Amino acid sequence: MKVLVLPGDGIGPEIMGSTLRIINKLNENYNCNIEPEINNVNAGMFSDGKYTIDELIDEAKKYMAILKAPMGNPEIRNAGGTESGLDIILGLRFRLDLYADVRPVKLLPGVTSVLKGFDDKKIDYTIVRENSEGLYSSHFGGLTLRDDVSIDTQVITRKGTERISKFAFELSKKSNGNAYGDRIVTCVDKSNVLKSFSFFRKVFTEVSKNYGNIKSQYIYGDAMTQYMLLNPDKLNVVVSENMFADLLSDLGAATVGGLGIAPSANMSDKMGMFEPVHGSAPDIAGKGIANPVAMILSTSMMLDFLNFKEASRSLENAVYKNLSSGLKTPDLGGKLTTEKFTDEILKKL
Ligand code: ATP
Repeated sequence: MKVLVLPGDGIGPEIMGSTLRIINKLNENYNCNIEPEINNVNAGMFSDGKYTIDELIDEAKKYMAILKAPMGNPEIRNAGGTESGLDIILGLRFRLDLYADVRPVKLLPGVTSVLKGFDDKKIDYTIVRENSEGLYSSHFGGLTLRDDVSIDTQVITRKGTERISKFAFELSKKSNGNAYGDRIVTCVDKSNVLKSFSFFRKVFTEVSKNYGNIKSQYIYGDAMTQYMLLNPDKLNVVVSENMFADLLSDLGAATVGGLGIAPSANMSDKMGMFEPVHGSAPDIAGKGIANPVAMILSTSMMLDFLNFKEASRSLENAVYKNLSSGLKTPDLGGKLTTEKFTDEILKKL
């Protein structure tokens, strides 16, 4: 099984290096036959016009799975001020129609939450981020006039909202529910202020009628930031617009140990792109201390998607065992380097 591997920028190559060592071991021990095909595309790659985003997308379309490390360099910017690395990330998500960004928020064994009174059985929910429209669809458009005014437009369509709502309900159906066993999908919007969000809520409600056994609730985006800190145990599946869900997933990650351990899967109906929630973390790049867990757990999600279930579980368990026995990188209060942490994972596979 050929998999497109994008090591990216910043800490990307370091954490992808860990993952490639792990894939080798899983190939040996579980007959996964994953063949990584590496493309070192990075934020500066398109600046001289020798390689284009169209070529990357054409290449990416040949694969069922893409394993992607973070991409982006704050110093490489487009004329309008946006980061060039984001052209690649959003280009892949939008043009491969990876419409559902699945972002688990799970307190792992051995990790302490900053929220008092919550243990690993209480925080375990998933944010489903609409990934193909919303405010970020304006990334390739937007308008700045005479240096006086700048406009971005939020796009919400019936098709986009129906399919993401359905995805969220299906995910809830397959889950064990929240900490109290309730299967419940939370729709996060700002329908009291914007028509586009009101439309999102309307379409979500229509879809919810097909899922009589699953509860739904509505929470405004601002109130949701509080809800996630006070009642994470009541959450099961959360669905929201592209930018809202982007912000909420960083907050969610912070409640369960930080960005270093938050994985994600960007799914279309045909393929998936698996990547950490975090960015390229230029502040720690090259120091050898990046936490590879988000990248490793994204790899586990990819293995599950490709039906290598045993390898996926084994990898997840190896991460849990490391963390519960105090083997951690500095972001989690540990002393291990990226490489040493990975050595310890390899021993457990
Ligand atoms: P983006 O906009 O691309 O998501 P960002 O600017 O929000 O990126 P990140 O690169 O995600 O920022 O980093 C935010 C903070 O989290 C930084 O202090 C960074 O060092 C830390 N961080 C992110 N990923 C990791 C990791 N894997 N291990 C340790 N620390 C990390």
